[in-house]
Order: sequence, then C-alpha cells, then structure tokens
Amino acid sequence: MRGRTPTSAPATAGEIFRLVRDGLAGTRTEIGRETGLSRTAVAARVDRLLTDGLVTEVVGAAATGGRPAARLEFNSAGGTVLALSVGVSRSKAAVCDLTGTILAEDTLDHPASVGPERLLGDAIALLEKLLLEAGADDAGIRGIGLSIPGSVDGRNGWSVGVPSLPGWERIALPPLLTERFPVPVRVDNDVNVMALAEHAAHPDVDDLLMVKIGSGVGAGLVSGGFLQRGAWGAAGEIGHTPVHDGPGVGCGCGNVDCLEVLASGRALVRDLAAHAGAAPDRAVPVREVSAIGDVVALVKQGDPDAVRLVRIAGRRLGEVLAAAVNLVNPALVAIGGDLVGAFDPLVAGVREAIYRRSMAAATQNLRIEPGLLAERSGVIGCAILVLDEVLSPAAVDGALARP
Ligand SMILES: [Zn+2]
Repeated sequence: MRGRTPTSAPATAGEIFRLVRDGLAGTRTEIGRETGLSRTAVAARVDRLLTDGLVTEVVGAAATGGRPAARLEFNSAGGTVLALSVGVSRSKAAVCDLTGTILAEDTLDHPASVGPERLLGDAIALLEKLLLEAGADDAGIRGIGLSIPGSVDGRNGWSVGVPSLPGWERIALPPLLTERFPVPVRVDNDVNVMALAEHAAHPDVDDLLMVKIGSGVGAGLVSGGFLQRGAWGAAGEIGHTPVHDGPGVGCGCGNVDCLEVLASGRALVRDLAAHAGAAPDRAVPVREVSAIGDVVALVKQGDPDAVRLVRIAGRRLGEVLAAAVNLVNPALVAIGGDLVGAFDPLVAGVREAIYRRSMAAATQNLRIEPGLLAERSGVIGCAILVLDEVLSPAAVDGALARP
C-alpha cells in the first residue's frame, strides 16, 4: 500500500484488512493516511470488516484526556479453518483460529491402502467432532488446508503422484471435502506445509530447508521468505536421489540406492530387523523391530547397532543435503518426521557429510535443528496454507461481496 500513486485504484476493504493484520495501520486516521481514502470511505470499509468479524475495535485509555482512539485489531477469533494432514498410516486433523493456533486436534489411524473417499469421509466425521470440541460452528469456517504425502497440482488441488498411498493417483481432492464443507480448499505436499509452519515459527529466518524423515524422505524449501514449489510442484523431492556408496538396493522408482531405500525410517526398520535376525546368539535381549518407533526406542536405549545405522542414514541424508546447501544456502535445516526422535546420531551423520561436502561459506553459520513444532507442524502448516489464501485482500473482498 505504501507508495500508492494517485492513479492507483482506491484501496479495498481487503487491502485495509491487510494493513490492520500486518500491523501497518491501527486507527481509521492511520488507514486514511496509508490509503489516501476519505474518512467516509475508510469508515464504510472498516464497518464491513467489523461486521464480518475479521477485525475488532479496542477502545484504549486516552493518553492525555480527550477522546480515546479506537484501535482496530485483527480478530483471530473471527472464524476458523480446518486442517487435515494425511499420512501413510496416521493422519492428523485440527480446527484452528485465524492465526493458525490449534483449538482442537486429533489423529486418525488407518491402513495405507485406505482410499481417498474413505479416508476423507472419516476425516470429515472427525472434524465435525473437533468443531464441537472447539465450540465453533459451520458458519465460521473460512477454508480447509489439506496436505498429502505426494505431489500436488496446487492450482486445482489434484493429487499428481502419491507412491506411498495406493489409489490416490490423479484424484480431485477438494470436491471430497466441499460437499460437506462448502469453503475454499487448498492442497499441498506434506513437507511443503511443514516448511510453511517452521517458517512461521522462525520469523527471523527467510531461507530454510525442512527435511522430513519418516517412512519416506522429502524436503520443503523456503527461499527469500517464500515456499518454493518448483515448476511442477516437485521441488524438494530428494528421496529418489541416489547416494554414491550404497550397497545396490533397488528402489520402486527403477533406480538403485535412492536415499529413500537406504536412509528412510522404513529402510532402518528393515536393516535393524535383519541385524536382529542375523545375530541370534548375541548376548543382548532379542529386539523387536517392526516400526520406526522401535528404531527410535533402541537409539534412546543406546543400542549400538541402532545408533550406528541411524548415523549412517544421517550421513547419506547429509550427502544429498550438501548439494542443496551449496545450491540454496539456507540459514536453517529443520528436521522433522518420525525419525526425529533419534535426532542425535541422525544429525551427527548429517553434519559430518554436510561439512565435508559443502562450501565453508554455506556452512559457517548453518543451523541444523529439530523442527520447533514437532508432530504439529503438519496441521499448523495446513492452516497457514489456507489462511494465506482466504485472508488475502482479493479473497476477503470476494467473501465480503457475497450476500
Ligand atoms: Zn527411488
């Protein structure tokens, strides 16, 4: 809004909302100064925002006698968004306020073979329960953010490639939700939304690489303050980058020694289970390794095989990340996903490889840390994804224009 020229179109209610939300203007006088609108025009637009509930008016104490100035504030309680982060075997749902703060949340366990209709149907029932818990009604829902573990055509919300979930290829996902909740739906990749969430949690960092290491491996890139999806939404798909010294394990994608078949949580479960079977006479208790949680538990107990294998996985992850660090020079590499519970040996391996393979200029002040939002980053990121959309000036104007 600053720098508007006299020939610009008059500021809309949506643009005024952005000034208030961003803290650039807090009174009608300030809005008039920022936009060049008359007092009457400012008052009319502010009234519509007040009626809609997007802003509230707070009357503070007068500084030195006189009439106290009414301050306008973004009303985080002026509606809700629904967030649904679909995973391979567990999905998370939440109702959030307009700042993305979680009001109610729950998880949904399901087999990977569950199709989109069944899973989104179950998720709708769960979201209805969460709305009740949050004391929110349907009328206040402003949008839905959805993430899936695959690539997405963000313009129309179609899934494009979802190798980990059979039956999810090329599905128009929004209609499965809008029949029950007729609001805007935004869909994105699971690691992309985690990157959005971690970016919001680190307001001082504009360049970060979010790495999710769970049953698969993927990355989301925020560069110059913006999430980078790439030309076809496939930016950050590092899981199928081959590593150089692998043992020759074939990957479902047709390549050999992809990061995902050697260093993912699923790969570690496979390798540790094989180790347990190969050494039946060892003087250690028999280990049950069937899930990523077992790997994490063994690392926490200091099991030497688990610690060693996780460190090697970290080194392989670091090998691939080193190229990314050289290319985009992030300030922060945030690690998330189910294997983050084994952070110490994992990150030791990552650091070892990155420092060996990246330029000193790129690693000097590089932070490698567990994500701040842990297992909540998925739903918080889904909320941020859809909030960016529905609270944009154009969307606010569109919503106000509807009867
Ligand atoms: Zn592969």
